[in-house]
Amino acid sequence: MGNTNEAGDKGQRVKISAGSTGDDHLSSLSLLNAMPQQVWTAGIDGYINYVNETICRDFGYPKSVIIENGWETFVHADDLSESLNRWQESLRTEKEYTQEFRLRFADGAYYWHLARAVLIKQVNKPSIWVGTNTNIQHHKDIESRKDEFISIASHELKTPLTSIKGYNQMLLRKVEEGAVRDFLLRSEGQLNRLEKLIRDLLDVSKINAGKMLLNIESFDFSRMLREAITAMQQLAPNHTIILEDNLQLEFSGDLYRLEQVVQNFLSNAVKYSPNADRVLVSTSLKDGNVIVSVTDFGIGIEKAHLGKLFERYYRADNSSARFDGLGLGLFISAEIIKRHGGSFWIESELGKGSVFSFKLPLDQGQPILPEIKIKNRYKDQYLSIFCPEDEDIMYVEWVGHQDMRSVKHGGALMVEYLKSNPRSKVFNDNRLVLGTWSEASDWAAAVWLPLMELAGLRYFAWIFSASVFSQLSAQKSVDNDEKTAEIQFFHQANEAIEWLKNC
Ligand code: ADP
Repeated sequence: MGNTNEAGDKGQRVKISAGSTGDDHLSSLSLLNAMPQQVWTAGIDGYINYVNETICRDFGYPKSVIIENGWETFVHADDLSESLNRWQESLRTEKEYTQEFRLRFADGAYYWHLARAVLIKQVNKPSIWVGTNTNIQHHKDIESRKDEFISIASHELKTPLTSIKGYNQMLLRKVEEGAVRDFLLRSEGQLNRLEKLIRDLLDVSKINAGKMLLNIESFDFSRMLREAITAMQQLAPNHTIILEDNLQLEFSGDLYRLEQVVQNFLSNAVKYSPNADRVLVSTSLKDGNVIVSVTDFGIGIEKAHLGKLFERYYRADNSSARFDGLGLGLFISAEIIKRHGGSFWIESELGKGSVFSFKLPLDQGQPILPEIKIKNRYKDQYLSIFCPEDEDIMYVEWVGHQDMRSVKHGGALMVEYLKSNPRSKVFNDNRLVLGTWSEASDWAAAVWLPLMELAGLRYFAWIFSASVFSQLSAQKSVDNDEKTAEIQFFHQANEAIEWLKNC
């Protein structure tokens, strides 16, 4: 391949006159070169074999050099490994490739791009990946200016607030009783609320900028809970916060951040249960995890909202009008829990109340060890797999609380066993799942399901856990428009078996 412009018409500007179709004036190659986007193709081996003129102009190299070196040469070092992993995943699963990364241009600067590619299957010709990279630097700049503005504004608001709080406290020390003291106490309450809003905004900008760092230390977990409860109890005189806890536990994590999670769950429990008089907090140790649950008897949450509450700025309809807040607390809590390798889930009934739980592993690095691992049978603390000799069904049973790590581990084992014990049907039993992952569902839909299909899956019976949050995660896990397997959800195991046997 030469280093001249093989696509021809270098620098040519193409004009489409009104009333004509593009076909009259443009060959497909000149159309590709006229595109403001980078356009490329690659073989099923993943290697680039065509780039349009825009790419040559942007990178400042001739086509042959770009093709020979591959696009990896131009991707920012920090974005490379994730981009390559995603690309490999798409090559394996044949699903659309979507990824954001920075590309180095001829001026030496890096610009954010959104890459998308699809596999085109052709009759009697090799399949080909067709991709585009769209320059999204402008959007990224605006987004980061917005984040920067929020960060600066919240810092600026914090300084005068701190001094107002200080003066308020000085006045409180001077005024012992009477109406003035009452006003001062009220204004202190409002100042605390303002302080929390500003802190949340600051935290979100830190998370967005990847700057929320954890300060890991060993601390007394129960004491942290008790202190968070005492602080909240003072602010919530109409509720009694009851702690059911007999943990004796030294935990290694960020004390301040985990206390923030508990405070957020508690303040929500109080805020969203204006007619109730108690909030329950329970803790337990299970399979090497500490689990904390906060139960309220308040307004509850509709099922449709459950899966979205941990997103930034998300607020359920029934609360946004009646209760103040920015919809940031749960987003921040989710990030803190994830950074500790944990997971969270919600059980709720509209009009009756909610249980918000989170789980943190005591030892994040410990591998999940099998209790049984033979050709057609597997068991560990989270799941068991059985492929009976004389059936076309693989039986899978998930147990207890699941998180990203256990779901990924179990999902990979299901693929492995389906390959080594070829079956077309899977009985996936979640009845013993207590609480479940949330963030693993996207991975399951994009990666795990296609791999199961490649391993031979045709019919998948999913028996729900009683946990609604887990049911939502299950549905999200198979939310892939391109799936080929037939997937059915069941509440009853016998109905699932019957369906599978008749497939
Ligand atoms: P905020 O409370 O400031 O709106 P959060 O991120 O803490 O923000 O909560 C997001 C949304 O989740 C709330 O707006 C509310 O709709 C819902 N929510 C949170 N906790 C509860 C609860 N205990 N009961 C009912 N709804 C809740």
